[in-house]
Amino acid sequence: MKPWRKQAAQPRRGNRPLRSGFVSILGRPNVGKSTLLNQLVGEKVAIVTSKPQTTRTRIHGIVEVPAKKGKHPAAQIVFVDTPGVHRPDSWLDKRMMQEVHDALESRDIVLLMVDATRRQEFSAPESEDSFTLSLVRKLDCPVFLLINKIDLLPKDKLLPMIAELCALRSFAEVIPVSARKGDGLDRLLVKLVEYLPEGERYFPKDQFTDQPLRFMVAELIRERILQETGEEVPYASAVVVERFEEPGPGAKNPVTRISAAIYCERSGQKAILIGKGGSKLKSIGMNARREIESLLGTRVFLELRVIVEEGWRERRGFVESLDWRKQIEELGKREQ
Ligand code: GDP
Repeated sequence: MKPWRKQAAQPRRGNRPLRSGFVSILGRPNVGKSTLLNQLVGEKVAIVTSKPQTTRTRIHGIVEVPAKKGKHPAAQIVFVDTPGVHRPDSWLDKRMMQEVHDALESRDIVLLMVDATRRQEFSAPESEDSFTLSLVRKLDCPVFLLINKIDLLPKDKLLPMIAELCALRSFAEVIPVSARKGDGLDRLLVKLVEYLPEGERYFPKDQFTDQPLRFMVAELIRERILQETGEEVPYASAVVVERFEEPGPGAKNPVTRISAAIYCERSGQKAILIGKGGSKLKSIGMNARREIESLLGTRVFLELRVIVEEGWRERRGFVESLDWRKQIEELGKREQ
């Protein structure tokens, strides 16, 4: 018998039952985890690029599912995006894999996401797929198999793929989706509500993420770097927002003033980031500013500087200081 069960709806709080819980999205780099999270949440909470390993820490996106009469009660689902699963070698990698383990510990349901267009290598020993599967095998909560990017898959390939994947582990549900187009996501939400336990809201109803704005701003800048620079620079870059001044209440022409430092590992990378006559940095700043303005809903004054911090990815202290929870802690200490 399967160790999990769909939860029977029970009336509570004046006949208004609510389901709530944490859902971790797990999968190899580039399968579409961030795209899914953004589609579900409807706001840009995770960065999306065509380069793998762009999500470095756990990101929570919060989705309110309204009740559907006779079908399911209302729910608050807290999605936890994880960095892509991969075998760790540098300090940054280790830190990222720790995030994956943490995300799996505090979950009610896990979504194992695979890319329908890629050959899966779950049976090959040493492969990243089998490593991912070994993480999932240890779980005793419901695991949904999400087959993503079905918009790119010929229809006759889907059923054999489902059969092959279901032979590996028994999944609570198998749901083909296109995160980019939004196909299959309503069904996914309904199925998640079915399996979530009764509970209170973890976050206020109108909140869509628990990430501080300054962290999201840093991620938007990092996204521009990923999009505007070549192979090696993005992975060697980190962004820290050093100043974040929101406009005062009732400001006539609200402007948010932001200064951020872009760290890279070598002077060659710094030269690429700055570009000829500062053109690259200008373009990164201009495009990031547009995104930040639409996130914040105010005008933004954005100042960027590039700093070389040799070998930062190998330095535990530096990598840990990039974690926004650490940064918030530090800011709290400074303000005391
Ligand atoms: P992550 O590393 O798992 O978070 O992957 P991302 O969400 O960053 O997506 C990686 C790439 O796959 C991006 O170029 C996305 O636009 C693309 N992608 C994600 N979902 C879909 C999908 O359903 N269909 C198609 N065609 N592309 C997708």
